[in-house]
Amino acid sequence: MTEAEAAAELEHLAREIAHHNRLYHTDDAPEISDAEYDALVRRNAALEAEFPHLIREDSPSRQVGAAPAGHLAKVRHALPMLSLDNAFSEAEVADFLARIRRFLSLGESETVMLTAEPKIDGLSCSLRYEKGALVLAATRGDGTTGEDVTANARTIKDIPKRLPAGAPEVFEIRGEVYMSKADFAALNARLLAEADEPEKARQFANPRNAAAGSLRQKDAAVTASRPLRFYAHGWGEVAALPADTQLGVMRAIESWGVPISHDIACFGELAGLMAHYKMIEAKRADLPFDIDGVVYKVDRLDWQRRLGQVARAPRWALAHKFPAEKAETLLEAIDIQVGRTGKLTPVARLKPVSVGGVTVTNATLHNADEIARLGVRVGDRVRIQRAGDVIPQVLENLTPDEDRPAYVFPDHCPECGSEAVREEGEVDVRCTGGLICPAQRVERLRHFVSRHALDIEGLGITHIESFFRDGLLQSPAHIFTLRKEDLLARERWAEISAQNLIDAIDAKRQPPLDRFLYALGIRHVGEVTARDLARRYRSWAGFEAMIGDALALRGSLRPEEGEEERKFLARRNKAVVEAVGTQNIGPEVANALLDFFEEAHNREALAAIFAAGVAVADVVHEVRESPVTGKTIVFTGSLEAVSRDEAKAQAEKLGAKAAGSVSAKTDLVVAGPGAGSKLAKAAELGIEVIDEAAWLEIVRAAGG
Ligand code: AMP
Ligand code: ZN
Repeated sequence: MTEAEAAAELEHLAREIAHHNRLYHTDDAPEISDAEYDALVRRNAALEAEFPHLIREDSPSRQVGAAPAGHLAKVRHALPMLSLDNAFSEAEVADFLARIRRFLSLGESETVMLTAEPKIDGLSCSLRYEKGALVLAATRGDGTTGEDVTANARTIKDIPKRLPAGAPEVFEIRGEVYMSKADFAALNARLLAEADEPEKARQFANPRNAAAGSLRQKDAAVTASRPLRFYAHGWGEVAALPADTQLGVMRAIESWGVPISHDIACFGELAGLMAHYKMIEAKRADLPFDIDGVVYKVDRLDWQRRLGQVARAPRWALAHKFPAEKAETLLEAIDIQVGRTGKLTPVARLKPVSVGGVTVTNATLHNADEIARLGVRVGDRVRIQRAGDVIPQVLENLTPDEDRPAYVFPDHCPECGSEAVREEGEVDVRCTGGLICPAQRVERLRHFVSRHALDIEGLGITHIESFFRDGLLQSPAHIFTLRKEDLLARERWAEISAQNLIDAIDAKRQPPLDRFLYALGIRHVGEVTARDLARRYRSWAGFEAMIGDALALRGSLRPEEGEEERKFLARRNKAVVEAVGTQNIGPEVANALLDFFEEAHNREALAAIFAAGVAVADVVHEVRESPVTGKTIVFTGSLEAVSRDEAKAQAEKLGAKAAGSVSAKTDLVVAGPGAGSKLAKAAELGIEVIDEAAWLEIVRAAGG
C-alpha cells in the first residue's frame, strides 16, 4: 500500500466512522452492526500503526462517541468521560493483567486485585452533586462535551435528588442509564399502538437506543413517561473519596442510595475473573437488562492514578466482551434495498429464528462481494450471528455444494430500472438514476429537510412520501412552491396545520450555507465537510465560483506525453484538492463535489430551488478589528490556557487566518513550549514570534 492510498483510506475511514458515530450516539439509529463498526475501527488502527505520520487530526482513534446534537445545552465535563479498551478472549485479559504488572513494576509477591461487574448496555451519564444536591446530569457526548439532561435525569427514580449528609462537597457519580428488556418491548408496543399509521410508527431498535432516545428529550415530561433505570459504575470529579479502593467507593455510593450492580466482586487472579465472567455470561439471557460483557477495574485507587489513561481509555480498566450469539436458519429471499445515494444493499430475508432470545428475520449481506464470498443463494441454510446489536450478519453458508446456480447480483435498479453500476475500486453497486429514481428522490427529500439539513419542522417522512406519491413534491424546489391550497385540498389538512407547515417552510428560505450544502446530499459531503466548506467560502457565490474554477481546471487537465494513467490521476487529484482548497477535504470528496456539479440534472434542480425563492445565507463572523485582522497566523508548540482549536477560532474572530505551516505569507507565529521546526523557519524568514500570553493579550484587548 502506498502512502497516498493509506492517506485516502484514512480519510475515508475518518468520515465513515464519524458518520456511524453520529447515527449511533446522536440519532440513536445505527445502520451497521457493532461488529462491522469494530472492523472499521480496527482497520483504522492498523493503518495508523503502519503510517503513524498520517494520523489525522480528526482521527476516530482520538475520539470518544460523537459530538452532542443541537437540541440540548452542551456541558463540558470537569473530567473527561472515557471509553474502555476491549478484550475478546482470555488471552487478551491475561495480556491486560501482565501490562498492569509491568507498568507498575510489581514484584512476584504483590497481588493485583480487580473488580468485575457486568457491562450494561445503556448510555453513560454523569451526575454531579454539590453539597449533596443533584445540580447537573450530563451525557458523555464526545467525552469532553456532553449534553445537559438534568431535568430529564430528575425524573428517573433510581437517581436521588439528594445524597445523605456526609457525602463529599462535590461528587460526580458516573453510571449507566438503561431500559429493561421488558420495558423496552412494552414501550415499542405502546408507540405502535399510538401511531396514526402503524407501519410508520417510531420503533427503537434495542433497549440501548430506547434509553438514549428517551433520556435525550427536549421535554423532560416525555422522559418521565419512559421507564428508565440507572446504576452507578464509577465517578468523575470529587472533592474527596470515601474509600481507597474501587469496591470501597462503589459500596459507599450504594450506601447513599444509588443502585450499583448486584454482581460486582473482587478477584486477585485471572482464574477468579474468568469464573465470574462465565457466571455472568451464563445468566445473561435471564437478566432483565442487556449486557455485552464484563468490566474489570484495578481495585487500588493509588494504582489507578499511577496507571492513568491512554488516548481515550483508562489503562486500569478493561471491557471483556461476550462472543456474538449464533443460530442457523433458512435463507428465504435476497431483497435489494436502494439507499439515498443509490447504493444497492442486499438484505437476507430469513425464516424467523431466535438468537439469544431475540427473533431475527433479516440479516445484512453488505454487497455483491460478500454474497460471492459466502456463496449463498435463496434456499440455502445459513449460520447467522447477532452481537447484541441491530442488524444481524450472515456468517456462513451451510449448504454450499448443491448444484443450484450462483446468485446473480442485479445490474438494474429494482426501484427505477436505471442501470446499476459498480465504480472502479468500489465494492458497492449504485443506481445511476440519480434524480429520477424514486428511492433516491424520497430519500433526498427526506434528507433535504432533516434535522441536520434544512430542518423543516412538520415535514416528516410520512408527508414526503404521500406528497411524492401524489406528484405534489418531486424535487426539493417543490417544497418552496407548496401552496396552502394544495394542502387544504388534501384529506386531514386543516387551516392551522396547513398554515403551520407553510410557515415552517418559509422560515427556512434563507438556510445557512453549511446546512444547505449538507442538504444537497452530495456523495461524501457530510455535516463536517459541509461546515468546512462553508467556513472556507462564506457565501454561495464564493462557493460556486470555486466550483466553477475547479471544474474548468479538472476538465482541462490531460495526460502528458507518455505519462502513466496512475500518475496522471494522482496529478489530477492533487490539482483538484488544491482547487477545492479546504482543510480535511481529500481527492475522494473533492471529486464527488465536482461530479455533483458537473451533472446537468443537479444544476437544474439547484436553479429551480433558487427560482423558488431560496437564498442561501452568508456565513457571518462577527469579525472584531484588531492588530491581526487580515493577517495570517501560525500556532505552534503546546498552548496551555487554550486549545489549538480554540486559538484558531479566536484568530478567525479577529479576522485573521490560521495557517498550518510557516511560509513567506505568514505574518505572525504564536509559539508555545516545545515549538520546533516552525519556530526555526519563522526565525529564518524574519517573522514576528510571540508567546501564548502575548496572544491572549491581543485577544483580550480586542474584547475577546
Ligand atoms: P464503550 O462503549 O466501548 O465506549 O465502553 C465504555 C462505556 O461502557 C462507558 O462509557 C460506560 O458508559 C459503559 N459501561 C457499562 N457498564 C460499565 C461498567 N460496569 N463500568 C464502566 N463502564 C461501563
Ligand atoms: Zn434507481
